[in-house]
Amino acid sequence: MKIHEYQGKELLKKFGVVVPRGVFCPTVDDAVKAAESLGGKVWVVKAQIHAGGRGKGGGVKVAKSLDEVRQYASQILGMQLVTHQTGPEGQKVRRLLVEEGADIRKEYYVAALTDRATQKVAMMASSEGGMDIEEVAHSTPEKIIKVFVDPLTGLTDAQALELAQGIGVPEASQAQAVDTFKKLYTCYMETDASLAEINPLILEGNGNIKALDAKFNFDSNALYRHPEIVAYRDLDEEDPDEIEASKFDLAYISLDGNIGCLVNGAGLAMATMDTIKLFGAEPANFLDVGGGATTEKVTEAFKIMLHNPKVKGILVNIFGGIMRCDTIATGVVSAAREVHLSVPLVVRMKGTNEELGKKILAESGLPIITADSMAEAATKIVAAVK
Ligand code: GDP
Ligand code: MN
Repeated sequence: MKIHEYQGKELLKKFGVVVPRGVFCPTVDDAVKAAESLGGKVWVVKAQIHAGGRGKGGGVKVAKSLDEVRQYASQILGMQLVTHQTGPEGQKVRRLLVEEGADIRKEYYVAALTDRATQKVAMMASSEGGMDIEEVAHSTPEKIIKVFVDPLTGLTDAQALELAQGIGVPEASQAQAVDTFKKLYTCYMETDASLAEINPLILEGNGNIKALDAKFNFDSNALYRHPEIVAYRDLDEEDPDEIEASKFDLAYISLDGNIGCLVNGAGLAMATMDTIKLFGAEPANFLDVGGGATTEKVTEAFKIMLHNPKVKGILVNIFGGIMRCDTIATGVVSAAREVHLSVPLVVRMKGTNEELGKKILAESGLPIITADSMAEAATKIVAAVK
């Protein structure tokens, strides 16, 4: 689960990381009032969406008067903000953050994240903050330094200092940087984040270290123990089909292809997507109906898949273990009837009660195409959509 920058800064602040003073603003008038109450002569008006790269897309503006605050707030609020993380259609801006302006001497990058290769928490830092870290990683990887944290000791002073020195924090500010890195690590661990990123982390003119941006990703499997983070959820920022799927406990992710797939088990779902690609087409979604799918769940799964206008055919691939093939077949038939299925449907099922399942499909009178192997199923659905 992702959250907004202003929420991320609330979290960082709770863990002692210094952030600019700022006010969350749902309207333009609120933005002007916020700037007034913050005082000073420079403010930053920032679009709040769940995607990075807002600065380059025109979603972050520095205002030098209250009139400019009003002007930028009106421009940004309601705009369709396009960044390299939103896709070409962009994301509508519904919320703003207005902050006091910062006196930036240098921009750094720092993040705590789960490193799959070492199966450890990595703290990553760079002297090249502000810009896309992907670009730095690609063209100047030597400018990114990493330390891997032992969960028993946590991020040590020595490691934090290695990062601070490695990215060139001036000596007078290193103690503050060390303190910030340790607090970021604690924040990451205690909130069960999978990413806690500050980009840019800045060195101010007066030598202080401050977090100018905050980006978090949380492990959904740990959210049950963080009601305070679940409260940050903003459904406006999430894919409506994915929200609908989560209500029915279906693991669903929208993708760009035209073959919907309904599978039980995450591994089989991935193998199915691979097979579709191998046979020259693209999956429209990832969908794992889980081990205990009921007719109702299967029906909902069909509705969600078909809600995507790109879907030109559906491939159902089921391994009947605990879940029996006849149950799934009954679900598929009733779902196909209920949604008046108008795209080709290929069903492959193997395992418990396979014969009974196939009989139910055959006797349904519906134009369901059956297949025995994965290759046969993929060949048939790819041919059907072409
Ligand atoms: P992102 O593009 O979505 O990552 O948004 P950021 O919050 O990182 O803002 C983008 C850029 O705006 C930063 O790298 C800074 O250079 C600039 N910026 C953000 N806040 C301030 C500020 O208070 N003062 C000034 N001068 N620039 C800022
Ligand atoms: Mn940023």
